[in-house]
Formats: sequence, structure tokens, C-alpha cells
Amino acid sequence: MIVSLTNMYPIAETYINWNLSRRCNFDCSYCSDGLHDNISPLLSETELERAAQSLANVPGKTIFLSLTGGEPTLHKPLERMLRILSEIEGKEFKVCLTTNGSRTIEYFYRLRPFINHLTFSAHLEFFDQESILKKAFGLHNIFGSDLGINLMLLPGKLYEIKMIYERLKASSINVSVRKVRKKNSKIFFEYSEEEEKFLCQAIEGANLRKDLLISIARNSNEMEEKMVTANDINTLGLNQFQGIQCQAGVDYFTIGFQGDVFACESFMQAKKSLGSIYSKKFQWPSKGNFIRCPFESCVCTADIAIPKKESLR
Ligand code: SF4
Ligand code: SF4
Repeated sequence: MIVSLTNMYPIAETYINWNLSRRCNFDCSYCSDGLHDNISPLLSETELERAAQSLANVPGKTIFLSLTGGEPTLHKPLERMLRILSEIEGKEFKVCLTTNGSRTIEYFYRLRPFINHLTFSAHLEFFDQESILKKAFGLHNIFGSDLGINLMLLPGKLYEIKMIYERLKASSINVSVRKVRKKNSKIFFEYSEEEEKFLCQAIEGANLRKDLLISIARNSNEMEEKMVTANDINTLGLNQFQGIQCQAGVDYFTIGFQGDVFACESFMQAKKSLGSIYSKKFQWPSKGNFIRCPFESCVCTADIAIPKKESLR
């Protein structure tokens, strides 16, 4: 049982993961219905201005803000919201944007001053090999080492993914290969032996930093400490934290597709919202009040990485 988990390389005082909207211009065959559609309304200037006003009041000076979707770059006022955030006095927003790369290189060039890290998730169903490479090299010229590329490996696409992976690696571009889950399921596709072997090599090659220090109670007087990634915790089945003191809802937040703010993904699934980021009345909780985890298990790697410990801070 894990009795404490500490992030050894914090980069901000407050962390926010914001799923802007389901709206996407792609329709990947493996993407769950709950994660994308092409009918959700685009966010308006008023909504994103209100959100910027709320974000100006987030406790802490440095705020890590991860923006995902759907496809976040479809919302026209996004650029304006990022500009407003960059001009808020006394706050530093570290913005991480995940995109399917469908916008032009000129668009990403305009966004560059407001983005600390860009993740390009490349989907072979909507881009051929050459288009992915062209976009990746173009983005690398703008973002350099602040660019990461995720290649989604669909079974049967090993040849294409391997070719792209090797060309990007050879140009020292940060690239990783991702397993894909079946649509509307938590189960991964079945991969061939050759595909599994390549996935293992790609994961090792990515050289992921182990940034979480965990203490595990082996018995009443034996404690073990080690450095791990959130994925390791998942793989080892150590993601059960019920009753532990957790910084979710204190220093870490998740914002859902409708703008509701939650302490973490599990609270989002339980529909227990703290309020809406689009509401003028919304107030962020103060930094002091820790929560005791009411859930049997942590559902996603972002939540697993949130610091936790048995006793109150
Ligand atoms: S680009 Fe991303 S959000 Fe859009 S359909 Fe594909 S996987 Fe889903
Ligand atoms: S489920 Fe939420 S509250 Fe529980 S440990 Fe995970 S992040 Fe913390």
C-alpha cells in the first residue's frame, strides 16, 4: 500500500487540466464517443473571457494549464484568452496544449509566445506519413525541444509508424508511440508480437523520467521508498488510495467539457463539481483544505501523479 506520493520535480504551485470541449474536426475510429464529436458548440469569446477572469484568481503565482479536447485549436477565441492570461500581473501560466495538428504552421507560430509545450498527437487515419513528417518538422522549427509528438499505433500500421518514428528520432525530435484503446472501451487493441516489441523499444527509447517518490508500507514497521512514473503505479496495481489525504481540489483541478471544475477525474465521473469556470460567482477553493480520497481507485495517470499522504500536511 502506498502511504505517500511526492512529485520531486514540481513546476507550478497549481495544476489545471482543462478538457475545453468535445468538438473535433477528426473522427478517429478508435476515439470514444464521450471524448469527441463534431456538433458541440464552439466556445464563444464571452465564455473564454470569463474563464480568463476566473483563472486570474487561481491561488498561486505559477499555474500549469493543460489544454486538451476534442481539438482545442478549433475555438477561435483561444488565442485571445491565452494573450489575456499572459498579461495577468503577478501570475505566470505555463501552458501545455495538445492538438491533432490540423491547424496551419502559421497558426501555431502565432500561438507560440503563449505556449510552453505543444503535444502533437498524430493520427494516421487523417494524415498520411509525409503530411505527419512535414507538420512535425514545421512545428519543431517553432517549438524546438518544447514539442512532443505522440504517434498512435493502430494494429497493422507498424510499418508506417516505424518509418515516421525513425525519421523524427534521427532529427532529435521528442517522439513517443502510444498504444490505442478500442472505441468506447478501456481495453487496448490486440497487438502482434512484432508491434509489442516495437512499443517496448519505443517506451525505453523515450527515457521517461521517474519523477514520483512513493513510500510503500510492506508491513507495520517496514517501509520501502522508490522513484516511479504514474504509469508504473498503474502497471503495479498500486493505484488504490481510498482514505488518503490528497491535494486534488487544493493544488490540482480538472475542468470538464461543460466548464465545470472538479477536484480530479474521479470527482468528474461522480459529477461532483466545485462550480463553473464560466460563472462570475465561481471561487477557487483556498489552498488549506485537503480532501480525503473517497474513491476505490485513481482512474487516470494525471490523477495518480497528484501528491498524497496518509497524515495531514
Ligand atoms: S483527433 Fe483526438 S479528439 Fe479528435 S477524434 Fe481523433 S483522438 Fe478523438
Ligand atoms: S481519485 Fe482523486 S482524490 Fe482520490 S487519490 Fe486520486 S486524485 Fe486523489
